[in-house]
Amino acid sequence: MKKIYFTVGPTQLYPTFQKHITLALSEDICSISHRGQTFKDLYKNTDEALRKLLSIPQTHHIFFTSSSIESMERILQNTVEKYSFHIISGEFGKKFYEFSTLLQKQPKEITIPHDKNFLFSTIKIPKNTEIICVTHNDTSTGIALPMQDVITIKQQVPNALMAVDLVSSAPYGDIDYSQIDIGFFSVQKGFGLPAGLGILIVNDKAIEKSQFLEKKGIITGTYKRFSSLLVNEKNWQTFETPNILEIYLLEKITKDFLKKGIEIIKKETEEKANIIYDFFESSRYQPYVTNKHFRSQTTLVIDVKGETKKILTAFSKKGFILGSGYGKHKEAHIRIANFPAHSLTQVKQLLNEFNEL
Ligand SMILES: *Cc1c(COP(=O)(O)O)cnc(C)c1O
Repeated sequence: MKKIYFTVGPTQLYPTFQKHITLALSEDICSISHRGQTFKDLYKNTDEALRKLLSIPQTHHIFFTSSSIESMERILQNTVEKYSFHIISGEFGKKFYEFSTLLQKQPKEITIPHDKNFLFSTIKIPKNTEIICVTHNDTSTGIALPMQDVITIKQQVPNALMAVDLVSSAPYGDIDYSQIDIGFFSVQKGFGLPAGLGILIVNDKAIEKSQFLEKKGIITGTYKRFSSLLVNEKNWQTFETPNILEIYLLEKITKDFLKKGIEIIKKETEEKANIIYDFFESSRYQPYVTNKHFRSQTTLVIDVKGETKKILTAFSKKGFILGSGYGKHKEAHIRIANFPAHSLTQVKQLLNEFNEL
């Protein structure tokens, strides 16, 4: 039986994946040198395609990491001497905060509730904040933060940087890069690729901060400190041997998305999310995030009243692989991914199966 993965990452591969990987093998991509012209062209073309798809301006550089968890560590090492501020909306934002403590910084945080009205305007950001860290879409809770609200509160500390975790919202999320200094995502979520590549988007202001810290004698890392990433990027290179195959696949998928059009991808994402939320609103299960203003369009979390195991087992028998809840909600929630790899037809089939349950 052909399975369909509605898990939130890794997830269903994008439908053109097989074609691209077959081509990669015929082009010996797994054997080429990362110091040769083929790789330089690959980095440059991937950079161009991503810029076009996500409207990333020339003020921002595109670097590769191995994962977004890694990117969190790199960001804190390179931009914070002491004070980071974290807007936490789930377990991923919490990890970002905890990393800051582990790196011996002095982070502060505010946690957004999933079940109450919450006004961003009530957030007070300490004046000494060096960077504000935000999760655009927290995959553990299904809370998505409206970026306009976030950008408005950042005005309290105009000199601070802002880093946004876009892991499970890209390419869907509308991000105005002129308003943020750093964005990052991984490819095993919205891009429908295997895990093993992180994309880290950093502007000149953040790189200058990292150079300032270096001059002060603060350790910002080794091969992946921002100044090293920058020197290598200028030559379309990476310090380490990167995941060349995955970069190749990312370029191909990004071009597929461009061909389809980002506006169509967004429209389809919202259409699918709406029918899923509507369905569960009138079922005995309920969306976990009660405040509609904060509901994710890409990773939908449903409170299934402790029936997670029963549902996952029943659906797996029919070839639908769903995600369990995250962490302490493992047995209480299910999570449904709504990425470009998931078609409207598949979503409708999934909801039909719920009717049969
Ligand atoms: C998956 C995820 C991460 C971690 O990404 P990795 O590629 O596993 O490092 C971070 N933040 C969010 C919101 C995620 O969904």
